[in-house]
Amino acid sequence: MKRIETRLSAPLAGMAMLTVGLLVVVLAMSAARVDRDALEHEQALVARGMQAKVADIERTIWSEVGWDEAVEHLDNRYDPQWAHENIGTYLVGQAGFDQIIVLDHASRPVFNERLGQPTSSAWYDHNAATLAPILDRLRQREAATPRPTGPRPDGDMVSRPIQVSAIERLDGDAYLVTASLVQSDFGKALVRHARAPVVLTALKLDAAFLDGFASRFLLPGVHLHASDATAERDDAHLPLTNLKGQVVATLDWQPPHPGQRLLRKAVLPILLVVGGLGVAVIVFARRSRKIAEGLVASEARAKHMALHDALTGLPNRVLFEERLRQAIDGLPRRRQAMAVLAIDLDRFKAVNDTHGHAAGDELIQAMAKRLQALCRAGETVARLGGDEFAVVAVDLEPNGAAALAERLVQAMSAPVELSCGAVFVGGSVGVALIDRAEGHVGAVEAARRADVAMYRAKDEGRGRYCFFEAEMDAALKARRGLEADLRAALGDGGVWLAYQPQVNATGRVVGVEALARWTHPVKGPISPSAFVPLAEDCGLIDELGRLVMRRAFTDSRRWKGLKVAVNVSALQMRQADFPDQVAALLAETGARAKGIELEITEGALLGDDETTHRAIARLRAMGFSLALDDFGTGYSSLSYLRRYPIDKIKIDRSFITPLGEDEEAGAVVAAIVRLAKALSLSVIAEGVETNRQRQQLREIGCAQAQGFLFSPPTPADRIDALVAEGGRIRVGAEA
Ligand code: C2E
Ligand code: CA
Ligand code: CA
Repeated sequence: MKRIETRLSAPLAGMAMLTVGLLVVVLAMSAARVDRDALEHEQALVARGMQAKVADIERTIWSEVGWDEAVEHLDNRYDPQWAHENIGTYLVGQAGFDQIIVLDHASRPVFNERLGQPTSSAWYDHNAATLAPILDRLRQREAATPRPTGPRPDGDMVSRPIQVSAIERLDGDAYLVTASLVQSDFGKALVRHARAPVVLTALKLDAAFLDGFASRFLLPGVHLHASDATAERDDAHLPLTNLKGQVVATLDWQPPHPGQRLLRKAVLPILLVVGGLGVAVIVFARRSRKIAEGLVASEARAKHMALHDALTGLPNRVLFEERLRQAIDGLPRRRQAMAVLAIDLDRFKAVNDTHGHAAGDELIQAMAKRLQALCRAGETVARLGGDEFAVVAVDLEPNGAAALAERLVQAMSAPVELSCGAVFVGGSVGVALIDRAEGHVGAVEAARRADVAMYRAKDEGRGRYCFFEAEMDAALKARRGLEADLRAALGDGGVWLAYQPQVNATGRVVGVEALARWTHPVKGPISPSAFVPLAEDCGLIDELGRLVMRRAFTDSRRWKGLKVAVNVSALQMRQADFPDQVAALLAETGARAKGIELEITEGALLGDDETTHRAIARLRAMGFSLALDDFGTGYSSLSYLRRYPIDKIKIDRSFITPLGEDEEAGAVVAAIVRLAKALSLSVIAEGVETNRQRQQLREIGCAQAQGFLFSPPTPADRIDALVAEGGRIRVGAEA
């Protein structure tokens, strides 16, 4: 699981990082581009701002030099007082120029004022060479402009300002130098010389100038560099050039970097979002992997459930058949034979019926464990359903198969501890050995052979194993044939009833027991001890039971004074609608329930459940009496007497036969008779064959008897005759 996780998470994390990396690169590139655009835009703005500033300054100067009075006082005659008040005081004081020089028509300095004080022309002389290009440019423009000759008729201005500005380095500092031609505004005073005087101003680009500029354009960190040589690389620059195009200084400021700002502001949220998405993707991937793993697991579970038994976890019939097929297919490659073992518990039903299904389940689980413990790794133990198990074993010789079968039988015969106490069930095993010569035998046939052998083991007394032999098939075939014949006989009157009289102490016939008879067209008479269990096994017992009841009920109407006893199989009693069937037959035949006695065995009462109690109560309420057949042969005949409303007990023949020869047998019968009397039950002895037995029964106090001594089971018309003759049977000495 851990390995899968890292295997899946690594590419996911890699992809997430690659995505984030790409995103950051793209963002950085676009931020740089935004910054470049912004810088270009700001540089253009600052350049235009510089031009505007220069134009501002030129306008300020023009207001002092471009009027008729200036022509009068600086050209027509030089008036130092006027120059000081108007040019010096105003321009230096108001506009903050550092140097003001007035040049006459011959470009000679006539006035120089610095910081409000008239000074010598030393400063100008010193910088004349630097300032020369500016003056030259001004004089060229002067020459190119026609002079006004007087006021205009419309009274408008007669001249436009002629000014030249440039940045120059003077004494190591950068200055904005402006040369302005003195001109007439309305043409009232006219320049008399060939050339007009010039006012030269110098404004130092100092901190105050820069601060003003910076605050106007919102430029942070503005400063000047002497030239572009030391310009900081990170700053924005505007080169300031002189008229010759030489860079005099560089205006530096901190560029806006909106892209970087955006990047800085955006990257964190983007990283957070991408990180969040990454985490979400990983969580989602894990979740879906869990779901996928869950699906795989549930598919595996479903597959396991399809092939295994839920109660024991053993392979089920499907997987058993698959393993069996594989084993048979592998036979040609192996040297030794293989075996299929069919296993059936012997008394599972009794435990299930007596202690309930929970105990039955517990028993199956315990047995499954035992069987599995006995088998080797290559052997498959499967539960085929109910109390049926099977084993497929390969590489076995007959001896090995017999040893395995013996071990299985031994294991099943040991008591099993359940929560309700210890139970003994035992089991029977059938073995089908398949060797290479029988490779053509398929899985179905192999399993069938094991089954046949298992049934033989049951027939031979249970708690043992049997190998399959070919003649068993013949027996099985015969059984199948007999089944079909019985079915036919039930339909065509082949099954009929014989009646065996029951007499009292004086030999008077008080009842008859109806006993089913089947005369097979080929095999002759077949004992009910054979065909009744056959009917039970192949699902014909209900049909047989109804046939017997219908006949016996009908015949009972012929013998008014006699009770007719009818044998009822345990399987019939277990049918939920048995009382209804009986009621319907009563109505159909018109018989009286009071004239019928139902003979049931312990097997019918074994369940001791609600259904059985209710059925018995209903039957008695209808008027039937109940006799407990074969009394003494079961495990707990006595306890049933207390729990069920029984009317009569039939002492089993096995207790009667030894009477007169075995004293102990007499004591047992005497005890049963005393018990019956104590419980106010009728009692009858069956299988009475001798006068001696009859005599002893009389002495013990058992009045009623049934047996060959009085009469074998006979056809109904013989009973008619008996009744007609007086209904009394005299035997032996009495006769
Ligand atoms: P069961 O109910 O114990 O019937 C008595 C059996 O003992 C009868 O055998 C009867 O012929 C036989 N018998 C009677 N007197 C003597 C005697 O003095 N000596 C000896 N050795 N045997 C005697 P049968 O008729 O062969 O019946 C065998 C069993 O078949 C019955 O035993 C009963 O369990 C079952 N059976 C017979 N008919 C029916 C039937 O209609 N329905 C059901 N469910 N079972 C039946
Ligand atoms: Ca009977
Ligand atoms: Ca009996």
